Amino acid sequence: IGRTKIVDLFKREDFGAVVNVKGWVRTRRGSKQVNFIALNDGSTINNVQVVVDLANFDEEMLKLITTGACLSVNGVMVESVGSGQKVEIQAREIEVLGVCDNTYPLQKKGHSMEFLREIAHLRPRTNTFGAVFRIRHNMAIAIHKFFHDKGFFYFHTPLITASDCEGAGQMFQVTTMNLYDLKKNEAGSIIYDDDFFGKQASLTVSGQLEGELAATALGSIYTFGPTFRAENSNTPRHLAEFWMIEPEVAFNDILDNMDLAEEFIKYCVKWALDNCADDVKFLNDMFDKELIERLQGVLKDDFVRLSYTDGIKILEDAVAKGHKFEFPVYWGVDLASEHERYLVEEHFKRPVILTDYPKEIKAFYMKMNDDNKTVRAMDVLFPKIGEIIGGSERESDYNKLVARIEELHIPMKDMWWYLDTRKFGTCPHSGFGLGFERLLLFVTGMSNIRDVIPFPRTPRNAEF
Ligand code: ATP
Ligand code: MG
Ligand code: MG
Ligand code: MG
Repeated sequence: IGRTKIVDLFKREDFGAVVNVKGWVRTRRGSKQVNFIALNDGSTINNVQVVVDLANFDEEMLKLITTGACLSVNGVMVESVGSGQKVEIQAREIEVLGVCDNTYPLQKKGHSMEFLREIAHLRPRTNTFGAVFRIRHNMAIAIHKFFHDKGFFYFHTPLITASDCEGAGQMFQVTTMNLYDLKKNEAGSIIYDDDFFGKQASLTVSGQLEGELAATALGSIYTFGPTFRAENSNTPRHLAEFWMIEPEVAFNDILDNMDLAEEFIKYCVKWALDNCADDVKFLNDMFDKELIERLQGVLKDDFVRLSYTDGIKILEDAVAKGHKFEFPVYWGVDLASEHERYLVEEHFKRPVILTDYPKEIKAFYMKMNDDNKTVRAMDVLFPKIGEIIGGSERESDYNKLVARIEELHIPMKDMWWYLDTRKFGTCPHSGFGLGFERLLLFVTGMSNIRDVIPFPRTPRNAEF
């Protein structure tokens, strides 16, 4: 008989059928006559209960059924009263596919997130990470579905690039290591070329510039891929390797861009509530009792739209009334997440889209406002997270863009391929970047960004 996934087993009602399930033992308990094994196969947060009449099985085999062992069970599907599920299995045959020796890091109270990050094999098999990774998958599907249904094209931008899109100098340099052509110094040590076959290249910090080329040809595109930033700091919201979703749309202005961002995030949050109910509920009950309420809250209200200048006024008022921030507040400052969270959590109690930032704290490609001081930027700020999206209307005027590039001393010769979009049939266009893991932080309620990605990359962590 073929294997039935546990998630599918719970949907069946043909009680009396003989089924096969395979999975890992979560717990084993019971008496001298009957044992109950909770088996999980990763397809759902829920375990299936396997009832074992000990008299019918070989004693040596039974000894191998320990927490963490991998089993294949044939048995009869019966209606369950006590297991919390509708279905349980009366075991007929049990095969131990993989034993689990006594060095297995047994769960006593529940492991800390920090501890689990050190145990590569155990982490994805815990309920918590099973839930998080199933939600992660679902969010990826939701994102593609949202844009596909809107007629956007999924566009692939390169991971190796020569451009520093954000101009923040947070890039990882690419070096060449050709194993068949290794150069060695006199001492015999390998000499690596510290460039890309004789030219400088880095890992991408954003696919936006390439995405703009696509949008000004195909109309509406989005990227969804890994990006890399040399963030040599340890915050709960920054990774050195993270995934970004970057829609870019021709003929959209900043207001269209805000509408798209709001509709998009709400779609993803709703998808999680509708399609990941068991996993979201588990995380809600386990870690964050307000998670479901917070997710539903985001769907309810319009996001607040507010200029940076008005945002600063609110923060300055708060300071005047005695609120203590770690970092100073004044017009021109790049907001820290404590400021962003204050606006969202304390002041408005709703997500906020902050617009029209001072040009000095934003990248070169944003459209200048008439005041010549602010640009058409928009950051979407979320409870618990702070900045979840950064976007803008792009400067589409060739001369203004060149002037800005010169002002910032960005080497012009590297930018010709991008500037050509403004030279030949330029058009207004807008876009934004959503950090996938920031979205997942919000949707899962996890508090550290390391715990929403299978293999977190942070300073000095690259092994697994
Ligand atoms: P922050 O102010 O939090 O450092 P940023 O302004 O540098 O973010 P952008 O360049 O605007 O980030 O990138 C777009 C989005 O990508 C951000 O809104 C955020 O969601 C996400 N993001 C940026 N840096 C990181 C990172 N190091 N790890 C995870 N997500 C990130
Ligand atoms: Mg940053
Ligand atoms: Mg920022
Ligand atoms: Mg930003």
